[in-house]
Formats: sequence, structure tokens, C-alpha cells
Amino acid sequence: MEKLLEIKNLQVSFKTYGGEVQAVRGISFHVKPGEIIAIVGESGCGKSVTAKTIMKLLPPQAMIQNGEILLNGVNLVNKKEKEMQKIRGNEIGMIFQDPMTSLNPTTKVGYQIAEGLMNHKNISKQEALNQAIKMLETVGIPLPEKRINQYPHEFSGGMRQRVMIAIALACQPKLLIADEPTTALDVTIQAQILKLMKQLQEQTDTSIILITHDLGVVAELCDRVVVMYAGQVVETGSVNEIFTNPSHPYTQSLLNSMPRLDMDRREKLKPIIGTPPDLLDPPKGCSFFPRCERAMRVCKDHSPTLDFVQGAQHSACWLHHPIKKKLEKAKN
Ligand code: SF4
Repeated sequence: MEKLLEIKNLQVSFKTYGGEVQAVRGISFHVKPGEIIAIVGESGCGKSVTAKTIMKLLPPQAMIQNGEILLNGVNLVNKKEKEMQKIRGNEIGMIFQDPMTSLNPTTKVGYQIAEGLMNHKNISKQEALNQAIKMLETVGIPLPEKRINQYPHEFSGGMRQRVMIAIALACQPKLLIADEPTTALDVTIQAQILKLMKQLQEQTDTSIILITHDLGVVAELCDRVVVMYAGQVVETGSVNEIFTNPSHPYTQSLLNSMPRLDMDRREKLKPIIGTPPDLLDPPKGCSFFPRCERAMRVCKDHSPTLDFVQGAQHSACWLHHPIKKKLEKAKN
């Protein structure tokens, strides 16, 4: 199947007073049309930087040092801000964690939805406002004709996130990037928003990149998972492969550190001991080496590549390197 989005060897760094932080270190992954993929990992692993890089919404101190971001085969890395403005909202929509900071507090909600439609679809203000009413209805906001004339502070947290979804999907983008879209919401509202996202995705066939640290959400919503650690992709695979047979020691630790529905009640959660490496001076070998219970001598100085494990699953760990597997086969 063709790829809607393909990220190839993407490297992003930030200039700081202490030096250059290598936030994203040569990641590659893809998203197929209609697919929902999750990017998971601890805070600071590069998930949100990846999302902002795809949208080209990085702060001025950040730099894309290498790589390609191909949207339907077109590389976004060299696109100018003017060209990106045509792509943002129209071809790629985005939902952020905190809708209050993303919505304009001084502009009526209806206009905020209509604005994108007027800019990208070249339609009149009245037509755009009519579509805004339809969008509010689609995302489950009652009395949309009245609500379009209200300001964000007149909406609850869950309703504001619904408005954000309406804005993000108004122009029917091919790709929606949702960065921790439910983290700021309470659990029942979280479930409603996720259900809504899934429903809309099924109706419109939009692809979604969901950035989250909540593995329960991933199991519920996603088709495939990209696991990031210290700015690198350490494992990818289908949700089933990752949850039933995680191959990278970091993915295994991540799963063991979070509660799951299928867990035995007496089973204890195991926190991941230690902290991720300092990305001002990333390690030469495997980034997970100091925290890994299965580390070997080769891991300290040699960085493993992402190698095939099974099906759609790939893992960047010496335990799954083809040479190691060959040696093991020869031994048996
Ligand atoms: Fe652990 Fe080595 Fe695999 Fe890294 S490469 S995760 S240190 S076994």
C-alpha cells in the first residue's frame, strides 16, 4: 500500500546555552492512508518534537539537520513558511494537548473554525460559518447555531477539545496529528474524545499520528506503534505485535511499568530504573544501555540498527540483530 507520510532519517537539534541538544536522531517511519499510528515513549524522547517538525512549527532555536518528510512524495523539509501555511490545516491538521492555549480567547469559536475554510477553500464567510455549524454538530456540540457565537472560555475542557477537533478536521486533511489530545481531560471525557476521533477517522479515512504516553489509549485506537527512546525509534510494529510480543527491552520495560487491563491484580508494576541519557552528549552505543537488564558488551559502544523481527515488527537492539540470530541458529 502507498505511503501517505514517510519520514526518512530525520535529525533535529536545538541550540541551547549548554550546547546542541540532539532531540531527534535519525528517525524513519511511515503512515499509510487511513492508518492510525501511535508514537509512544517517556517525556523528552522526541515525540512532540517529531510532530512539530512534520508541521514545521519548530521554535527558532531548532534546526532540521538532516532527513526528509515526504507527504504524498513531496518533501516538506525545504518548504518555505508561506507554502507550509497552505499545507497546515488543509493537508495536515493538528490537535494539541491544551485546547485553551491553542484557541484564540478573543475570537468567537465559529470564526476560528471558519477561518481555515476561508483561507484554504476560498469560500465566503457565510458559507464558512455554515460549515462551522455543521462541524460543531459533527463533533457533538449541542446547539451549534448558538455556540458558534461564543468564546472559548464559555466551553468546558472537553468541549474545547471538540472545538479543536472541529478546527483540525474542517478542511478534511489527509493527516491529523494529535499530540496528547486527552491528557488534560478527565477520564470519562478522555474516552468520549477518543471515541469521537475514531468515529471521524472511520468516516473520513483520515490518517492519524497519535502522540501519547498512555498505552491504554494506543491499544484502544491504533493500528501500529512507533516506540521512541532518546530521540530514536527503538521499535515499530502492529499494536498486537508490540503488546503481545514486545521485542526491545525498553518496550518491555515500558509495558511493565504501566497498568494493563489483562494484568493479574497481584502483579506489581515495575518502574524503569534510571533516567534517559543527556541528549547534549548522546551515548555512542545503545542509548538504553545504562538501564537495560539484558545489556551485552557490544551494546556499550555500538549503536544497533532497526532490524526486522517478524511481520511488521522491527527492533533496534543487538538481541535481534541478524548476525546474532545467525550465530544462535548455528549454535543450536
Ligand atoms: Fe539492551 Fe543491548 Fe538491546 Fe540496547 S542493544 S536494548 S543495551 S540488549
